[in-house]
Amino acid sequence: MKITDILNEGMEFGACKLEVRDDGTKMFSDPTARQEEQDCWVCDGEGDEQCRACKGTGKKMEWVSDSPEMQVSNSNGYAIQRDILGVEPDYAGSIMNDQLPAIRKKLLRMVNQESQRSSMHKDPSKSQKQWTSQEGNVTTIQRGATMHDMGRSDEQVLTYAQRLLKIVEYAMKNDCHLTWA
Ligand SMILES: [Zn+2]
Repeated sequence: MKITDILNEGMEFGACKLEVRDDGTKMFSDPTARQEEQDCWVCDGEGDEQCRACKGTGKKMEWVSDSPEMQVSNSNGYAIQRDILGVEPDYAGSIMNDQLPAIRKKLLRMVNQESQRSSMHKDPSKSQKQWTSQEGNVTTIQRGATMHDMGRSDEQVLTYAQRLLKIVEYAMKNDCHLTWA
């Protein structure tokens, strides 16, 4: 998890170890995560005196990791959880190491056969949120902003399956669990 991620809406899938702290609390953490000095991404490393992110130094400490990660939008993250991982979608979650061989099998089928990916295909669409409000005896229909759904192409679903396969195989090899948040 990088600090810049808080600027992105969405979900990140990755491989983490389960750590038990001295006080007994358990938490997932990426064993390869560390902070490294990098060019400031706000001012492109120019060291602009006005840049509040690097205070004019052009350098900034960033979280980096060697383990494979995948970042997707929330709606695609939910679809991945439901259709690939077979779990009830949530903002954050995990699949433990001992269940990963079954997930890996499913991902291999998805990578190799288009028919295994079709349940995740989605046509682009437009929709408008609608709700009713009641005032006295009068019910009115309210309409919200029009939502444009970009859909999900086969190419996109294939990319998700391939990246997720990489994460799952990495997790299996490195005694990690599959996590998302
Ligand atoms: Zn800067």
